[in-house]
Amino acid sequence: MGVDDPVVRPCPLGCAERGTSYGTLENTVGYAFSRKGYDLARCGSCKLIYLSPAPTDADLRALYVENGQFGDEYTDPKRVEAILEYIGHCFDRLAKERGWNMSAGVRVLEVGAGLAWMCRAAKLRGAQHKTVAQDVSPEAVEACPWVDKYVHGYVSDAAIDPYAPFQLISMTHVIEHLVDPRSVLAECRARLAPDGVIFITAPHRPREWREGDLEAWRKYSYNHVPAHIQYFSEGSMRKLAESVGCELAYWSHDHEGGEAFEAWLTPPGKRPSLWRRLFGAG
Ligand SMILES: [Zn+2]
Repeated sequence: MGVDDPVVRPCPLGCAERGTSYGTLENTVGYAFSRKGYDLARCGSCKLIYLSPAPTDADLRALYVENGQFGDEYTDPKRVEAILEYIGHCFDRLAKERGWNMSAGVRVLEVGAGLAWMCRAAKLRGAQHKTVAQDVSPEAVEACPWVDKYVHGYVSDAAIDPYAPFQLISMTHVIEHLVDPRSVLAECRARLAPDGVIFITAPHRPREWREGDLEAWRKYSYNHVPAHIQYFSEGSMRKLAESVGCELAYWSHDHEGGEAFEAWLTPPGKRPSLWRRLFGAG
């Protein structure tokens, strides 16, 4: 370990300062990955925590193509109700703070959608909301009648374009899976409406995380090696936002005892009314 550690890959956000390794985390599932473990590294500049090296294409295929993602817990009625209540509450907060015209309908793009919970919550609030879902996995494409257009492909897929721009681009527990979060966020930014918001939730840090405590990390419920590639901090999310021409309009890591965060990325100069109320800005 040390600033000159040659095995740590550069920060995925492109920081000049080298990352340092906390040590090696063992894989958490028994698929045939390219290696037995990955280093947990921290960027000395933006404080992003990330796996090094990045998973290979074969590793990603093992995770997302060869093995299914959705278990029975997503069809259990109580579980479905709880997820929809939470996601619906997020939709309502975003609509209120961004001042969207609900009767005219909100255009929603759900990235890495899976079962497309945000689209489902939007449709529950009215058929006027237009919902587009995108996922590289075909697993849920036929399972989501609440999605107007389900695109099986990358977020750069031209099939999404006719529905843009979007007021809500939602990525719930997706960004931690991306090898290149900047390119995906740039695609989202290009399709974002002037009154839009990119809504991101993802794992943050283990409860009572102390710098370098790998044992705490191993016990962290979101420690999925190598599926979860990076863990944002407020500073690293701001860097990502600014690198794609957005502002970090809201950040909270009060979720799940500090184990998960919520971030809102907006076009510059279009801050939510919440921001104005809290800070008295323009
Ligand atoms: Zn960095």
